Amino acid sequence: MQALNENVLSENVLSEQEVKQNVQHIMEEVRQAAVSAGRNPDDVQVMAVTKTVDPVLVNAAIEQGITLLGENKAQELCSKYDSYHKEGVSIHFIGHLQTNKVKQIVDKVCMIESVDSIKLAKEIDKHCAAIDKVMDVLIEVNIGREENKTGIFPEEVEHLLEEIAKLEHVRVRGMMTIPPVCENKEEVSQYFSRMSQLFIDIKQKKYDNINMEILSMGMSADYPTAVRYGSNIVRIGTAMFGQRNYKRS
Ligand SMILES: *Cc1c(COP(=O)(O)O)cnc(C)c1O
Repeated sequence: MQALNENVLSENVLSEQEVKQNVQHIMEEVRQAAVSAGRNPDDVQVMAVTKTVDPVLVNAAIEQGITLLGENKAQELCSKYDSYHKEGVSIHFIGHLQTNKVKQIVDKVCMIESVDSIKLAKEIDKHCAAIDKVMDVLIEVNIGREENKTGIFPEEVEHLLEEIAKLEHVRVRGMMTIPPVCENKEEVSQYFSRMSQLFIDIKQKKYDNINMEILSMGMSADYPTAVRYGSNIVRIGTAMFGQRNYKRS
């Protein structure tokens, strides 16, 4: 693994013990939100989002019961991959993925949550065919219709699904979204509600070769609300590991 820049050792970095306490707290909140929404808590997975986080702290989260990691950058994933205690742990790719980076990650992740073009899906298909793997993917939806944001608009989802259904080494499992930054629960609830409706609509259409079973939404600021709206994966960074420090080289 690459040595970490000394700047990363700022006073903001949490201890392993603090990370473990955060994991415990987040899991308990998710459980309560699921139960109060009449859902089975086992249907919601807590993902540890690892960007900029030292693998030592990621491993502390794993020791506390985290079984799913989320990676944003191909290069960062490759440099940290060997340091993770991966037994019983799955890794999803959740960041914007350039087609020329697909090859580096297809053997390391079991799901790519950020598919938003047929071009990317075809590239994943090609590299997975070469290693005889079928990659699970989620369609990333730009539910807030924000400019300059990754993901496709809701009305574009069905067309992309039809195209991806033709690929043998890519299997759609659901959708992912990153809603706009919101001031409060009421505001973010509107986006989660729209996303949940889209998910249900598409699920009911029963496309061949398409499974709509996973809805990935909710981050540190809003995960209990996301669980109330049907999220199956909450992606947690800062609430688990503290503020990110981007000074790392
Ligand atoms: C960074 C990131 C998260 C986690 O964000 P926090 O607010 O720190 O919990 C979740 N999803 C994606 C796609 C991210 O890039």
